[in-house]
Amino acid sequence: MTYDAIIVGAGPAGSTTARLLAREGAKVLLLDKQKFPRDKPCGGGVTLRAASELDIDLTPVIEQTVFGARFSLRLRKGFDRQFEKPLSYMTQRARLDSYLAECAAKAGAEFHDGEAVRAINPQQVPVVRTDHGTYTSQVLIGADGANGVVAAATGLRPGAEHAVALEGNLPASGDLLEDWHDHIGMDLGDVAGGYGWVFPKGDHLNVGVGGWSYAGSMLRPKLARLARSHGFDPDKLEHLRGHRLPLRVPGTAIADGRVALVGDAAGLIDPLTGEGIHMAFASGRLVAESAISLLTGEVDNLSGYQRAVDYELQRELDASATLRELFHLAPPPYVALMRRNEKFWRFFCYLIRGDLTYVDFMRIIGPLRFAVNYLSAAARRHREAKVAAGKRLLASGSAA
Ligand SMILES: Cc1cc2nc3c(=O)[nH]c(=O)nc-3n(C[C@H](O)[C@H](O)[C@H](O)COP(=O)(O)OP(=O)(O)OC[C@H]3O[C@@H](n4cnc5c(N)ncnc54)[C@H](O)[C@@H]3O)c2cc1C
Repeated sequence: MTYDAIIVGAGPAGSTTARLLAREGAKVLLLDKQKFPRDKPCGGGVTLRAASELDIDLTPVIEQTVFGARFSLRLRKGFDRQFEKPLSYMTQRARLDSYLAECAAKAGAEFHDGEAVRAINPQQVPVVRTDHGTYTSQVLIGADGANGVVAAATGLRPGAEHAVALEGNLPASGDLLEDWHDHIGMDLGDVAGGYGWVFPKGDHLNVGVGGWSYAGSMLRPKLARLARSHGFDPDKLEHLRGHRLPLRVPGTAIADGRVALVGDAAGLIDPLTGEGIHMAFASGRLVAESAISLLTGEVDNLSGYQRAVDYELQRELDASATLRELFHLAPPPYVALMRRNEKFWRFFCYLIRGDLTYVDFMRIIGPLRFAVNYLSAAARRHREAKVAAGKRLLASGSAA
């Protein structure tokens, strides 16, 4: 069978790409190896900035709307902050992803779930082989997450760095759910390079921790400590799951000829917050625009997509990475600012809502950004040297 576009992976990035291309009249095949509805390790938080990327209504899958946060520092007693407008929607990935795939199918995309892509030949006309057939297309989009088959087959390797996260669900009802219904929990400073969270859903609380990749082995005890700090029994956490969050190395190739990567497959995750759904939607939009130009004969490759990502998204990710280094150098002052400084809290809300971008923020702080950039680069070098020293120590220990 021949298609205009084949999209491998029906997460938020793949289904968004498929929907936008099908809506423009392209003949689209959307493939996912899992049978839907399928779950995925994820907090399911869809920030306002992510939701505003879509021109479809997410109401059918929103379980809670978040207006504030209960912040804490290193698992100590927290404090509440509330905003007058919504900050984030809480969803469950099994429901969200099924809904997004359904929307793609309604727009005209052919959706085959439970059909894994086994081999790809990324030639002039890309060829995809699955358990059920062989398909060709004008355009091939890898939306198959970290370690995807499309990246492996094309030699595109966007991510060398990654973060890690672990989460579980605490069944909740009555007063417990009521207590959390309109705000998230955010513990800062306990997990290196990340944070601990509590996300309220329809019938449970999602509790998780994430941070630098080297924090991986500590995540299980950290998750238990976080649960206890909120008065939850860690043994009651169900469906514990961990996963990698790939982070694109700036400048690395995410498009080659008629093949391109989107979402996690391209390493497009906000380094400061670990949020990936926003970039999944945004990269889906950008690749669909570029693919339409190719299908209508305006261009003969998808390099315009990579340029658009570098201009529109990567500058955001770079600014976020800069702020992440600075924040994790010493979290306490920022937590204190969050508690006492109205302007700082409102900046945070504007960023989460997408009213302000990280790039805007760097512009607003004026010449202070030179100090921010300098300190951030120094913090990064210090962190990398520490990790390298730790690795050397481990290697010499195992050699002895
Ligand atoms: C613990 C954790 C918590 C997180 N919490 C949040 C959060 O609250 N908010 C947020 O914005 N981000 C969060 N993220 C990040 C977010 O989950 C990802 O960034 C997001 O899922 C990326 O979407 P995607 O469509 O690129 O990939 P995915 O959602 O990973 O989808 C990839 C799809 O490809 C399919 N696939 C893979 N290989 C093949 C193959 N060979 N053939 C066919 N199909 C294939 C998979 O089955 C899958 O359905 C979290 C991540 C983790 C690990």
